[in-house]
Amino acid sequence: MNDSYIINQLAENREQYFHAVAPPIIQTSNFAYPTVDEFAYAVTHEKDEHIYTRGNNPTVNMLCQKMAALEGAEDCLMVGSGAAAITNAIMSQVSMGDHIVSVKNVYSWATRLMTNTLPRFGITTTFIDGTDINNFVETISDKTRLIYLESPISWTFEIQDLEKIAELARKKGIITIIDNSYCTALCQKPIEFGIDIIIYSATKYYNGHSDIVAGAICGSKEKMTQIFYNEYMTFGNILSPQNAWLMLRSLRTLPIRLKQSSESTLKILDFLRKSPKIDKIWYPFEESNPQIDLVNKQMKMPMGMFTVSLKNKDISSIKKFCESLQSFLIAVSWGGHESLIMPKCAFVSETDPQASMIRFYIGLEEADYIIEDLEKNLFLL
Ligand SMILES: *Cc1c(COP(=O)(O)O)cnc(C)c1O
Repeated sequence: MNDSYIINQLAENREQYFHAVAPPIIQTSNFAYPTVDEFAYAVTHEKDEHIYTRGNNPTVNMLCQKMAALEGAEDCLMVGSGAAAITNAIMSQVSMGDHIVSVKNVYSWATRLMTNTLPRFGITTTFIDGTDINNFVETISDKTRLIYLESPISWTFEIQDLEKIAELARKKGIITIIDNSYCTALCQKPIEFGIDIIIYSATKYYNGHSDIVAGAICGSKEKMTQIFYNEYMTFGNILSPQNAWLMLRSLRTLPIRLKQSSESTLKILDFLRKSPKIDKIWYPFEESNPQIDLVNKQMKMPMGMFTVSLKNKDISSIKKFCESLQSFLIAVSWGGHESLIMPKCAFVSETDPQASMIRFYIGLEEADYIIEDLEKNLFLL
């Protein structure tokens, strides 16, 4: 299916609402039935019926259909945050006594779930360097039920060989989950490499306007139905119809937003590479990246986030540099309209070897405007 068709036409059903171009927000908690028999049928088929908005809502479902189609997946469940997507997906696949193999340095709250919460239920996790397939082979045991991936990982952007890992997992009957937030389905389709469940922080690129928190879980009809009747309905981390509508609006501009962010990022990286003030750049598409061939195989386009370290390792200078930049806000998150920086020294001690790292997200501003700002403030550094 063509992405333009998915974003603009699929699941719109305009004849049901006066041929309005924009879909309605069905702002309701429950749905009424004309007869007891129809009601009774619906209650036993909740995944396919509108009974209660914690389960299904037409505005949310329209978004689910588009998200699934963009992913090339059979089905999608939208949830109230990326963290909820992680929790629903992971907890749906493991039971007491099971073992998880996870790439190390995945999203912090996913790490927290696996190190703090799951051990209380008898589920253990081994964190490995995901760049070498042998680490997976060596760490998998009879108890391993799940492999958890994030490719690329944040800050240093190492990637994993999705095809090889999926093949290994399939052979052993192990489920694979990937956090694909950095790429979106437009840049990387893990399903094509055999990954089972794809999760997103839709707060980031998909929504893209820094005004809502949202998550998505994509996969087979069978798996999504299993999650729906268990974790999804019981945890109740739903996305509201209002926020689903905002996401539907955001999807209209997703390709053009990604294109702008991507093009600006390449220009800005060109500038930074030439700057004598920069020590190192971490970015998947750097020619010097030892994983560049795998990057080119798995990722269809360069995205808008990278990390740099400055030659000047003095923390007060780094802080001053960050605070002086006019075109960047100092904040967590990324994927919105606004360019952001996140200095590592806000998270680690000043003596940490990574303390001079700064993560950049390039938003929708003109590249020249950002470069001018960087040039001025790097010069003062
Ligand atoms: C932000 C983020 C999450 C968490 O998503 P929320 O929507 O903030 O709950 C998960 N994974 C990655 C890679 C993220 O950047």
